[in-house]
Amino acid sequence: MKIAILGAGAIGSLFGALLWESGEDVVLIGRKRHVDAIRSRGLKVSGISGERIVKPKAVTTTQEVGKVDLIIISVKSYDTEQAAKDALNMIHHNTVVLTIQNGLGNIEKLCEIIGGKHVVGGVTMQGSTLVKPGEIYHAGKGPTIIGELNGEITNRIKRIAETFNKAKIETQITQNIWGILWDKLIINVGINALTAILRVRNGELLKIPEIRDIMIEAVKEAVNVAKALNIKLEIKDHVRKVIEVAEATANNKSSMLQDIEKGKRTEIDYINGAIVKLGKKLGIKTPVNKTLTAIVKAVFQFPLPASDC
Ligand code: NAP
Repeated sequence: MKIAILGAGAIGSLFGALLWESGEDVVLIGRKRHVDAIRSRGLKVSGISGERIVKPKAVTTTQEVGKVDLIIISVKSYDTEQAAKDALNMIHHNTVVLTIQNGLGNIEKLCEIIGGKHVVGGVTMQGSTLVKPGEIYHAGKGPTIIGELNGEITNRIKRIAETFNKAKIETQITQNIWGILWDKLIINVGINALTAILRVRNGELLKIPEIRDIMIEAVKEAVNVAKALNIKLEIKDHVRKVIEVAEATANNKSSMLQDIEKGKRTEIDYINGAIVKLGKKLGIKTPVNKTLTAIVKAVFQFPLPASDC
């Protein structure tokens, strides 16, 4: 299968590396410094799947790629619109465009620009960090779940799952991708913003009862919005789940915290901010998410001064 990874950063480079190792024809599309490093020294992968150098093709523009069978969208949510426009160069009538991004609105944007018949939804529990150009750290393994937007089990979705499983990306097919996306989103709503604001690892959120309460309220607001939209959630008790996840990942730094530490823009508008926006439309109050969204934006805008000691 000819596969393009559009957004070769942390998670895209990991998928690209694993798929390339299993013999797929992979091209990474990313920024110049990362691409130059991969072209000259290969992509170094370390972490839980072992240390090695892989050598997939790497380019900076989609014009250099030609038509492909599968495009994996792995840019941050605020870059989806541009990525979708860039993807058009690589699409033939059977090309599948799979998003593995977090946050709301990505599928809708891809459908609008590329056309809904090409688009497939996905969620991944794999974890990866971009250490420096040309180097990623495989931080965590977990299932990847993919599904057609209308819930059908199609041959193309089976083929992608087979290809991923062969590449040791453990993948399941779902008939309810919207529910799965929302389940992950709701957990991110509880953990990401608070860890970014407080600059703490996930487990710390459970240590102060008042902070734990804020986490729980944010999650409850998101569940209310999901239910008003008739999303069929698979997780039955999101409050219990968010606590379990914070415990199980106590030592992890959320992606939003990592973005704040690097001075990078966050996906807040597509996570807590999206809950606020939808809540407003539906007449559902979301004061906790509104506050968290505002503070994350302020924390990004006014970074902590460097310590002078
Ligand atoms: P990331 O490291 O920032 O990777 C995205 C990369 O794509 C960046 O290098 C970015 O460059 C580049 N890019 C943006 N627009 C592009 C374009 N049009 N053409 C080529 N390259 C482009 O982000 P990430 O951590 O991999 O996350 C990507 C998405 O996956 C997010 O929605 C995230 O929430 C989700 N996710 C991540 C993980 C994880 O473990 N990392 C796990 C599950 C889901 P710039 O930085 O210069 O913009």
